[in-house]
Amino acid sequence: MTAQKVLVVGGGISGISIAHQLEKRGVDYVVMDDDLNHCSKVAVGMVNPMSFRRTLLTWRAQVCFSEALTFYREAENKSKSSFCHQHTIRRIFSTQEEKNLWEERLDNEEFKSFLWPLTVEDNDYGAFGSGRAKGFWIDAQQFINSQRAYFENKGRWVQESFLQEKFDPLSGTYQGNIYDAVIFCLGYRNDELPWFKDVAVQKTKGQVLTVKWDNSVQAESIHSKAYALAIGNQEFKVGSTYEWNDATTHPTEEGKERILKNFQSISKDSVRVMAHEAGIRPTSINRRPFVGKHRKFEKLFMMNGMGTKGYLLAPRFARELLDFLFCNEPLPEEVNPYRNLDSSN
Ligand SMILES: Cc1cc2nc3c(=O)[nH]c(=O)nc-3n(C[C@H](O)[C@H](O)[C@H](O)COP(=O)(O)OP(=O)(O)OC[C@H]3O[C@@H](n4cnc5c(N)ncnc54)[C@H](O)[C@@H]3O)c2cc1C
Repeated sequence: MTAQKVLVVGGGISGISIAHQLEKRGVDYVVMDDDLNHCSKVAVGMVNPMSFRRTLLTWRAQVCFSEALTFYREAENKSKSSFCHQHTIRRIFSTQEEKNLWEERLDNEEFKSFLWPLTVEDNDYGAFGSGRAKGFWIDAQQFINSQRAYFENKGRWVQESFLQEKFDPLSGTYQGNIYDAVIFCLGYRNDELPWFKDVAVQKTKGQVLTVKWDNSVQAESIHSKAYALAIGNQEFKVGSTYEWNDATTHPTEEGKERILKNFQSISKDSVRVMAHEAGIRPTSINRRPFVGKHRKFEKLFMMNGMGTKGYLLAPRFARELLDFLFCNEPLPEEVNPYRNLDSSN
């Protein structure tokens, strides 16, 4: 397909990644966002190549990690802002088995570029010691604000709600403008518009605290039952919760208490809560995103279900989606939006 004019609906990390890719390809595009939810802004923005629970690389880390880092560096340059910070992620082992597994991983080529060798100091953490991974984090608020300003300055961003009654999905016409492709990146509000409503985007609420930890000399991100990401000035992002039965974006007292309790697995120090935020992650049952084309309407596409890893996955999948759209390169079956429906048919 030779798309000449593309409408991106949703300006979170997914929509922004697609907008940058469209710009790179010289395509005429606009992003429409109603600024009514906060997931990409609330995110801690950590990009961790490891899944600590199983001491494995996270899904697609090998291909997504470096592509994401390049993407954020380019976005910083373009928007003349700074939001991408490389850092070390320290995992406190919870069992001897976990430590043994980590040591095995260190001998494995696949893991080597993502892990630091163990040192004597690593033993100073917890009963079983700790290991360190190489990651980076995005100051999410700064990222979203700077990218929005960047696209606004170029006349490529409109703040408004995309309304069903103004759109003809067959011709791709929205309010009199004809688009060659319309890409929906609606996050957890995927079911508010009809066209991809049958795709099983789930809602997983998350809460996070910003705390002042006066006694701390930590410059790393530290992970145990909770994580504490050093953001400078002895402030830390501490989180987060996973809640499946509350689709509101309000922080709760219960969420705060749970995070502070889990923080004790990192330190018994008392901390001062400076901020408390909540957002809703768009997730999927098997933790794979949904990226692809509508079954019936040729001009409609979606990218969603980024789960807990939006800042790692979105830059890569934005590119893969556009390779599919413009060059007909196949997308992996794992991200087919209709995979759940197809298997149950
Ligand atoms: C507490 C918490 C911590 C997190 N920490 C991390 C982390 O450390 N690392 C990480 O990678 N990920 C993290 N995440 C997950 C990450 O935030 C998500 O994966 C990501 O933000 C999803 O981005 P998105 O662009 O797909 O959706 P969203 O960010 O939800 O964006 C969708 C956008 O579409 C807009 N929209 C919806 N409907 C319409 C409409 N009809 N018209 C116009 N606009 C519309 C919304 O206003 C919104 O701006 C965290 C999430 C939470 C809640």
